[in-house]
Amino acid sequence: MAGMEESVGQAAEIIRGARHLTAFSGAGISVESGIPPFRGPGGIWNRYDPDCLDLEVFRRHPERAWPVIREMFICFLGAEGRSPAQPNAAHRTLAEWEAAGRLQTTITQNIDGLHAAAGSRNLVEYHGHCRSLTCLDCGRGIPLDAETTRAMIPRCACGGLLKPDFVFFGEDIPPAAAAAAQEAAERTDCMLLVGTSGVVYPAAALPVWAKRNGARIVEVNPEPSDYTDRIVDVFLPLPAGTALTRLAALLGR
Ligand SMILES: [Zn+2]
Repeated sequence: MAGMEESVGQAAEIIRGARHLTAFSGAGISVESGIPPFRGPGGIWNRYDPDCLDLEVFRRHPERAWPVIREMFICFLGAEGRSPAQPNAAHRTLAEWEAAGRLQTTITQNIDGLHAAAGSRNLVEYHGHCRSLTCLDCGRGIPLDAETTRAMIPRCACGGLLKPDFVFFGEDIPPAAAAAAQEAAERTDCMLLVGTSGVVYPAAALPVWAKRNGARIVEVNPEPSDYTDRIVDVFLPLPAGTALTRLAALLGR
């Protein structure tokens, strides 16, 4: 496809010329790692009421949230005969670009931990992560593993409810993550969107903010998103791993 070849070339040129490249990823980057998107057919929210991960609902009815949380953890971390999810070519390419000084910041909306597993360090996990739990009463943090989540409703030694450290509905974005993402969106001169549809706020506003601050926007998504016609300079309608591999081939590591 000649049109596609040209678009990949244009995207590579923009990335090559960037002085502060920021990657902004969503669920689409992890599909090739075997993690199904939460939304859409087969997604977790077709089978559960998203309300159960509302912070206030969780306080009153943790028994409604834990089956969903457990299903997510099994999907990300493995268990019950399922292997842990592994970073794919897209996660690995971004980590390699960061190590090589080509990429400055990665902001992800995902809570699957795959960017960190791939080796990304200057990483903003905008919606938190699944590596630990925090007691809602005393604030004590404990690592998340098979042991700490064995009980149907895991509780702290103080008796308080343990909540995973990803952002629930009705909960604020962690202040450090919100500030780091905002700063990157203001400083970046190229934002590479990977597998995000731009529907979950406030995260979805970051690329719009970057564009307003003069950044070029490159989008990798199998389907057009809310961003495509509004703010995107070059659109690559490809799966994340395919697109990043092709860009890396043009750019070198
Ligand atoms: Zn406690």
